[in-house]
Amino acid sequence: MFDSLSEGLQSAFKSLRGKGKLTEGNMRDGLEIVRKSLLEADVSYPVVQDFMGHVTERALGKRVLLSLRPHEELVSIVHSELVSLLGPVDSSLHLRKEGPTIIMLCGLQGSGKTTTCGKLAQLLKEENIKATLVAADLQRPAAIEQLHVIGRQLDVPVYSEPQNKNPVEVCQNGVAKAKADGARVVILDTAGRLAIDEELMAELSRIDKKVAPDQVYLVVDGMTGQDAVNSADAFNKSLELDGVIMTKLDGDARGGALLSVKHVTGVPIKFMGTGEHMDALEPFRPEGMAGRILQ
Ligand code: GDP
Repeated sequence: MFDSLSEGLQSAFKSLRGKGKLTEGNMRDGLEIVRKSLLEADVSYPVVQDFMGHVTERALGKRVLLSLRPHEELVSIVHSELVSLLGPVDSSLHLRKEGPTIIMLCGLQGSGKTTTCGKLAQLLKEENIKATLVAADLQRPAAIEQLHVIGRQLDVPVYSEPQNKNPVEVCQNGVAKAKADGARVVILDTAGRLAIDEELMAELSRIDKKVAPDQVYLVVDGMTGQDAVNSADAFNKSLELDGVIMTKLDGDARGGALLSVKHVTGVPIKFMGTGEHMDALEPFRPEGMAGRILQ
């Protein structure tokens, strides 16, 4: 995960190791390597500027420059600034005490939305919480069947109405059925598009208004770099997202989307997808992620 970013940061720390007495110039050289590594990882420019502002201020302080192990000090500064860039995160699903909690997933086609519906149901199942999946992606022809396959695999009920072309009705009927069946959580798999367009946003807004989900999560493909950040920004403007679920972090994502999305949109990453299997979804932990990046 993020190998080249990790290597870049390590080379910055290495450049300060064993230098004897460190000068401000040495530290500035090290910081420049950190900055370049972030840009190469496709982190948004304003995020890099802001992040480097914080890191530089702390790293050029007397305490760090005069310390016996300045490279270790820099590691710890970068670690703590990464943690504040990524968090804070509350990855609880905030389940209602009574009646089903409605979770709506949205995102562009191919981001991993349908798969993530199944992964969330699996997480809940592990806690003995009954979920129902609702197939409201009426755009992608295979999406309904894909959700049924996932439901059968997990033994989780899936609600669909293949003849109904109105996703608002499908969601409303799905929620009513889930309620009647005593489900604690309803997960809505909504339609995506290849790119953001007005029709998609209008459809999602209609579902949001009529079905009033408790939580709205955006699924974004972590491999798509700044596109992921731009789409998160656009979705958040029309839907008020409660969180981002970033998928495909098991691939060779450079890290830019991961490090930029919260700063740019104000919406934290709540979960991360780390594989195609149903158990490959983890609550997002800024501390753990900062540690992995600095490995
Ligand atoms: P949707 O169009 O947004 O519903 O996307 P899908 O759920 O159909 O996912 C698109 C592809 O991405 C499928 O092949 C999934 O198996 C794959 N996928 C989803 N999440 C992950 C992930 O976290 N890691 C990897 N490697 N693949 C994923």
